Amino acid sequence: MQIVMATQNKGKLAELNKLVSEFGIDILSMADVNLADLEIEENGSSCQENSFIKAETVMKLTGLPVVADDAGLFVEALGGAPGIYSARYAGEHGDDAANRAKLLAELARVGADTKEKRKAYFLCVITLVYPDGRKQVCEGYCHGSIGFSEVGTQGFGYDSVFIPDGYEESFAQLGVDVKNKFSHRAKALQELRSRL
Ligand code: IMP
Repeated sequence: MQIVMATQNKGKLAELNKLVSEFGIDILSMADVNLADLEIEENGSSCQENSFIKAETVMKLTGLPVVADDAGLFVEALGGAPGIYSARYAGEHGDDAANRAKLLAELARVGADTKEKRKAYFLCVITLVYPDGRKQVCEGYCHGSIGFSEVGTQGFGYDSVFIPDGYEESFAQLGVDVKNKFSHRAKALQELRSRL
C-alpha cells in the first residue's frame, strides 16, 4: 500500500517511514505526487481540524490514502495560547526565537511566577484519510511546564522552554532520543502504528 504524507517537512517524513517500513507500506512525499509547491490554508479551529484539512486536500488531489499531522503548545495560564497558532505566535510563520520570547514575556505579564502556574502541554494529531471515506484520528499529549528562560541547544520550536513532567531539563537539553520516547508526536505515531 502507498500512503502520501501531507508535509513539506523532511524530518516528519523520515520519522513516519521508519515507523511503517515493517508493514510493507510505501510513504510518498509531496514531491513524489507532484505537489511539492502546494500550500494548504490551515483555517481550522483545532489541531484535529487542521490535520484533517491537510489530509483531505491531498487525498482529493491524488486519490491516495494520505496522512497529515498538526501540533501545538497549549499553556494553561494563557487560556490555551498559543495553541493552533503556535507556529506564528509572534506574527511571522516559523520564527521560533520570536515565538519563545513572546511566550516568556506573556507568562511574566500574567504573573505566572511558579512552576505550578506555568503548566502546559503539547498536542499532536495525526489524521489518516482513505479515498473511500474511512479515517483514523490519532492523538498524542505531552504534559509539562514552561521554564523561566531558554535552556538547551537541541530540538526546535518551543523545545528550549518546555520541561516535560518528571524531568528538570527542557526538551532541548534532553535531546531527541529521550524526547522520542514520550513526546506528543511519538505517542500519536504509536497510536497510528497500532491502527494500521
Ligand atoms: P506543526 O504542526 O508540527 O508544524 O507544529 C506547529 C508549531 O508547534 C511548530 O512551529 C512549533 O513551534 C510547535 N511545536 C510542535 N511540536 C513541537 C515540538 O515537539 N517541540 C517544540 N515545538 C513544537
